[in-house]
Amino acid sequence: MEEPNGEFAHVAWIRAQTATNRLVAVGPGDDAAVLRVGHDLLATTDMLVEGVHFTFDEASPYAVGRKAMNVNLSDVAAMAGKPQFALVAVALPPGTATTVGREIFRGMQEAAARFGVVIVGGDTNRSPTGVVVSATVLGAPTGRGPALRSGAKPGDALCVTGTLGYSRRGKHLDFTPRVVEAQRLHARFSISAMMDLSDGLGGDLFHLLSESQVGAVVDAEALPISAGFADDRSPLAHALDDGEDFELLFTLPADEAHRLLREQPLMDLGTPIAKIGDITADRAATLRTTAGSKPFPKGGFVHRC
Ligand SMILES: [Mg+2]
Repeated sequence: MEEPNGEFAHVAWIRAQTATNRLVAVGPGDDAAVLRVGHDLLATTDMLVEGVHFTFDEASPYAVGRKAMNVNLSDVAAMAGKPQFALVAVALPPGTATTVGREIFRGMQEAAARFGVVIVGGDTNRSPTGVVVSATVLGAPTGRGPALRSGAKPGDALCVTGTLGYSRRGKHLDFTPRVVEAQRLHARFSISAMMDLSDGLGGDLFHLLSESQVGAVVDAEALPISAGFADDRSPLAHALDDGEDFELLFTLPADEAHRLLREQPLMDLGTPIAKIGDITADRAATLRTTAGSKPFPKGGFVHRC
């Protein structure tokens, strides 16, 4: 009989944990899953590597699994999509399947189940040195189709959900992907462009602007900055460069933005929305502060847990 840390035993354990639903014609156990989709499919994948993106000194195996799933869910949210299926792959050092492996899977599965996502397949492998966790999430666009980065128009308002910065206080490991928020915004307002903030506003803003071929004036005073801690960097620098906010950055026509800010349609979810600037035809990105205007500082962020 194979010992419980073996790959077959671990896969059997995973199969016993996985739920299914009517969209899954064939789930884990055959060579591939068979999914009943009659629509455009959103697909995204992300990998976390021990020693590069996380260490187990800081993050439990459960938290690493949860994050591996949540970063993908955040990307589907960024398209205003409905996440439906996940595929997961984990490489584990010998002898850790029943301990580390199960906790990673539990984290992935609980994060997925929160949004009705079914894990329909995956792979487990041996790793000689550290743990590698990868998740792929598939989903469906909602009512108005996928919300892209490329639709921002001059005159649109630039908005964010929640607060920015200081994610290392814990949000980088434990955050709520804005799946529900994004779908509601997309259903009620003419969202012209949207993305999730993984690299920090100082990096991600430029992605949205370049995809939309527009510029922006961002008002530093309007940035909703998370509660922080004292160090040698300013709260503004934290808000622009910390990364891993996993909030939504989006644009919509100015008149609709007025209605949105008045209604604050996500408050029942505990998610305020702030207007942080305006989209311009001039391709420059500008940061307006009390001291004057300057080019928006381009931030860099290296992902790690
Ligand atoms: Mg993204």
